[in-house]
Amino acid sequence: MTAYCPTDLPAADSQLLPPDAVIAIDGPAGSGKSTTARALADHFGLLYIDTGAMYRALTWAALDQGVDPADEDGLAALLRPAELALRPAKGEVTVLWNGHDVSRAIRTPEVESLVSQVASHAGVRQEMVRRQQALGRQGGVVMEGRDIGSAVFPLATAKIFLSASLEARVDRRCRQYRQRGREVSREELTRDLAQRDRQDSERDTSPLGISPDAIVVDSSNLSLEQQNETCVRACLVNPLLDQDLDTDLVVAKREIPMHYRLAYRVFKGLARFYGLQTVGNEGGALARGCIVAVNHISMWDPPLVGATFNRHPVHTLANAELFRIWPVGPIFRWIDSIPIRRKGYDANAFDEAKRALDKGHNLLIFPEGTRRAIGHPGPVRSGLGIVVQATRAPVLPVFIRGSYGKQPGGSLLSPLEVSFGPMLRWHGLDALLETASPREVSGVIGRLCEAAFRELQARSFDRYPQTDFERELGEIQLKRFAARHRKVFGAKT
Ligand code: C5P
Repeated sequence: MTAYCPTDLPAADSQLLPPDAVIAIDGPAGSGKSTTARALADHFGLLYIDTGAMYRALTWAALDQGVDPADEDGLAALLRPAELALRPAKGEVTVLWNGHDVSRAIRTPEVESLVSQVASHAGVRQEMVRRQQALGRQGGVVMEGRDIGSAVFPLATAKIFLSASLEARVDRRCRQYRQRGREVSREELTRDLAQRDRQDSERDTSPLGISPDAIVVDSSNLSLEQQNETCVRACLVNPLLDQDLDTDLVVAKREIPMHYRLAYRVFKGLARFYGLQTVGNEGGALARGCIVAVNHISMWDPPLVGATFNRHPVHTLANAELFRIWPVGPIFRWIDSIPIRRKGYDANAFDEAKRALDKGHNLLIFPEGTRRAIGHPGPVRSGLGIVVQATRAPVLPVFIRGSYGKQPGGSLLSPLEVSFGPMLRWHGLDALLETASPREVSGVIGRLCEAAFRELQARSFDRYPQTDFERELGEIQLKRFAARHRKVFGAKT
């Protein structure tokens, strides 16, 4: 397994993270997540949230109330009205279920043996993820679990996947039980942990897996101090890289051809006229050689998004059929767009995209493949994952909202917004490729990008609540676009 040890990662000049940072720690049972997550929370002054304790509390409640762990509806009904609170108390966390302290009761082997089954139900996970996102949005947190980097906070400031061999994990669990005055057999623990690994990795809804942009830390042979130090450094890798951007930009500015600058000015004027707001990249800065992945809702998206960054030549991957239409074709060629066939594997398009990224240019992709209904981004098609695997280029998820034309009541395009997520960098890709096929990895990359779109959309709705116009048009389009998608791409929409 490709994993980092302390000396691989840069020592940080600054030990600071933004106060609203979200650190996601995922990994199998017994990999040391809780200990390290607590240490990171202390180090960076963030709140520690143990999402496993939430699934354990529900399992305890199900046992207490006689609800079958296989009964998805029963569990969801038990969870929905419940008050589930995690309170920090002297380095530990007190877990309260409807005000009742269950902190000790959720750590018993009975709960442990059933919790993965309880956590496998989509209905349960949906409600848990909603609660976890609400906790994270309140401020800076270190959140540990199985799906934090991949599903709960796809745009986390830092993502760590902590792994350890089964043997090392069984050793640790034995020690933990002994400290609590309980003897358990090694064989039984090995069987239990292996079974939980299997259940957590094989379930349909957000299975445990390495998020391709997580930093993988294998703690099997690390002391606790080494493990914590590696993870502190891992948290600072992305912020450190982002600081390098400035020097990049100075060099790049000279490379921009005249016609790009001209097109940029025209688009920028257009965008300003329609009141376009940019969130998260106000200066128009973009890393060299990154893929800009944008959700697609209207034909106005390319020029509007293009108006928000200006530092490098940008090549847009566009439907090959459009290149046959006059004057679209000649204009697309003039701005170095790359034609791509929408069906099947288009080797020429991917080669050309790779050459552009290798030169340090940016690649603009609409990874959903065609326009999608307003308010319902995704699914992302495999093309994005193919380009990422071929180039390792980082992906900047960008969410556009409001480019759909004149609205009833006379208001134009409001709110019209382009928001930028933090860059997805592929630290964990090699580790993931050791356990999954390239096709599966493309699926994982696509789902991560989809989740990023959804999170950017949720943040945009927090700034300006969704309008009735957007909701109604979205519902109408949902049906219309689904039919079109089936025609273009086949049965899967
Ligand atoms: O981390 P911990 O061992 O306490 O988690 C208990 C169980 O809860 C895990 O084995 C897993 O089945 C489930 N879990 C999950 N998603 C999370 C956290 C925990 O499915 N985010």
